[in-house]
Amino acid sequence: MTTPLVTLAGISKHFANGTQALAAVDLSIAAGEFLAILGPSGCGKSTLLRLLAGLAQPSSGTLRWATPPGPRDIGFVFQEATLLPWADALANTALPLRLADTPQREREARAAAALAAVGLAGFERALPRELSGGMRMRVSIARALVTNPKVLLMDEPFAALDELTRHKLNDDLLALHARTGVTVVFVTHSVSESVYLASRVIVMAPRPGRIARELHIAAPSPRPDGFRTSVGYAELCRDASLALAEGLT
Ligand code: ADP
Repeated sequence: MTTPLVTLAGISKHFANGTQALAAVDLSIAAGEFLAILGPSGCGKSTLLRLLAGLAQPSSGTLRWATPPGPRDIGFVFQEATLLPWADALANTALPLRLADTPQREREARAAAALAAVGLAGFERALPRELSGGMRMRVSIARALVTNPKVLLMDEPFAALDELTRHKLNDDLLALHARTGVTVVFVTHSVSESVYLASRVIVMAPRPGRIARELHIAAPSPRPDGFRTSVGYAELCRDASLALAEGLT
């Protein structure tokens, strides 16, 4: 196996109030992988993502990157699009470059390219209130991609969207992953979404948060037409549901 992009060994995380959010997490993530982290609320998914982002430190254990990431090597997408309401889609997307003092012409060109990559060419001047929920989330993804990160960390990004919009964004995210090769770590509590997106699903269990199972999803990516209604997909969802239920017992 090639050297993993990042390796977590024996990671635990305790908070000051006594909550143990994570216990003995061992996990390696390969470069270019699409990994889903699946589990019920409170099992430590967000905490794990925050540790990967460097926004929090483990209480014990080690988290080792093959090459330590710089501040712009990690893109983070949250459940809410969290856009600046007074700034248009281009300015919202360009924000990380603006914070990095990238010259205006370059940051606008890169923001326009990132918007095009998420299917929003032509919407550069639209304000967030003029965009649908799905389009606002696309801007949020463009903003995360604008620095060309090595890793995209996504914390239930599509949970608030209607199902059809969510399905479309799932397909577009897989196409983007295939095109760019960016490593994706995608947190969700949706069994069907985890199986649809990922090549590997880490199933977590709560109290304390830990890895209960790991499922390998043997299906081509991007998913072929008809995959969502196929028997094979239904069987994979069943396996993941059972793994999730086992973790709760
Ligand atoms: P998930 O993302 O799976 O819903 P979290 O990682 O948000 O789970 O939380 C895991 C556990 O840690 C929960 O019990 C949560 O209440 C607790 N927790 C998360 N952040 C903090 C914090 N800053 N202080 C205290 N407890 C926290």
